[in-house]
Amino acid sequence: MRKSVVAIVGRPNVGKSTIFNRLVGERISIVEDIPGVTRDRIYAQVEWLATTFNIIDTGGIEMGDEPLLVQMRQQAEIAIDEADVIIFLVNGREGITGADEEVAKLLYKSNKPVVLAVNKIDNPEMRESIYEYYSLGFGEPYPISGSHGLGLGDLLDAVVDYFPEREDNDEDEETIYFSLIGRPNVGKSSLVNALVNEERVIVSEIEGTTRDAIDTKLHKDDQDFVIIDTAGMRKRGKVYETTEKYSVLRALKAIERSDVVLVLIDAETGIREQDKKIAGYAHEAGRAIVIVVNKWDTVEANEKSMKEFEANVRAHFQYLDYAPIVFLSAMTKKRLHTLIPAIKLASENHAKRIPTNVLNDVIMDAIAMNPTPTLKGKRLKVLYTTQVAVKPPSFVVFVNDPELMHFSYERFLENKIREAFGFVGTPIKLFARRRQ
Ligand code: GDP
Ligand code: GDP
Repeated sequence: MRKSVVAIVGRPNVGKSTIFNRLVGERISIVEDIPGVTRDRIYAQVEWLATTFNIIDTGGIEMGDEPLLVQMRQQAEIAIDEADVIIFLVNGREGITGADEEVAKLLYKSNKPVVLAVNKIDNPEMRESIYEYYSLGFGEPYPISGSHGLGLGDLLDAVVDYFPEREDNDEDEETIYFSLIGRPNVGKSSLVNALVNEERVIVSEIEGTTRDAIDTKLHKDDQDFVIIDTAGMRKRGKVYETTEKYSVLRALKAIERSDVVLVLIDAETGIREQDKKIAGYAHEAGRAIVIVVNKWDTVEANEKSMKEFEANVRAHFQYLDYAPIVFLSAMTKKRLHTLIPAIKLASENHAKRIPTNVLNDVIMDAIAMNPTPTLKGKRLKVLYTTQVAVKPPSFVVFVNDPELMHFSYERFLENKIREAFGFVGTPIKLFARRRQ
């Protein structure tokens, strides 16, 4: 199910990134060090009561040397294009400025729901000053303080109220949703075309969720697929679409809706820094992943060159050790037939459930082989393990004291689960919890 998207807009220094960080909270710091993922973050998930949604800090999307007013206008347009609900942020200490009015005009024309938040209202006395903001024409202004974390609950309640009603099964369980990510010119469009042109019978375009996103349906090997439109695949001709942050944003939105993400690498140019960053996003989102080495026609292909390239990929993408690698050419269609089986396998594993008794047999065998660690004379005791979620498969290990679960032991158990159940193509998650 697609999550709702909320965008924060407003002129510089009103507190957009402060609010963003506050709402995203601890999720922003992740344990694994994946190059470039946590830095400059502008898109993240927020949990509020029973809902989760995604939030964009449009202030983080810079447009090079454009004048301020032009940048603000473009950021507002991105919010209008990408979001279901917009938080319009103003500074409660400065009153309404010309720039605020400029943004207001654009938002007013957009027909998207807008919630007006007046920031830097750090104490109750200051609440008196928010009434002037009614004149912006977005109804009740919500007083908040980003730095003190005040008023955010009421603001979020108002935001969530605008979320569109969704059917739980609006995305069909049987269908595999996948997207293609990779830097410009790796061959994303070519690969989509290669897949779609081969399939002569059922090819259609279905309405996507945002105004211009178009998904492509595909039926192959007795399986329905939907290819989700990603940044860079469709050239729509708006100025901001060439900015890197914007294409990352589009890619993240596509990843969000995918079961499987194809991470494309160009065999001709080899692996670049940007590839790692892009792959890091897919990994962090917990999606199934297939690494696709495209343009394999440009390499003198044999057993040896494939082994060498594979070793190179493994060395650069250590955190993707679970992802299968497919070598193909979108242009000549050589080895193209190896892709769909890899996508199917990754998707099956992503949704796989392991019965508790079978799982516990594996864990207990693992512990017998490699005894649990001790810390300050206290030994970790594993009581039992259970799978709590799919997509990705997530396991909770109930223990006497989670502090005793050393990172390396967690890794060991994870590997044993992988060995036993073959989760090729999907990340798995393991958490230690104290038994209640
Ligand atoms: P952005 O440019 O809109 O992303 O604004 P920032 O989040 O970078 O914030 C701009 C400045 O305002 C920073 O110095 C923040 O510390 C400050 N600021 C943000 N929220 C508040 C608030 O609620 N109260 C006060 N007093 N200062 C704030
Ligand atoms: P995108 O920007 O990732 O969508 O990349 P495109 O699909 O537009 O491809 C970029 C360029 O790479 C085009 O000139 C393609 O013809 C070329 N290309 C794509 N796939 C292959 C391939 O498998 N082999 C070769 N030699 N060229 C390819």
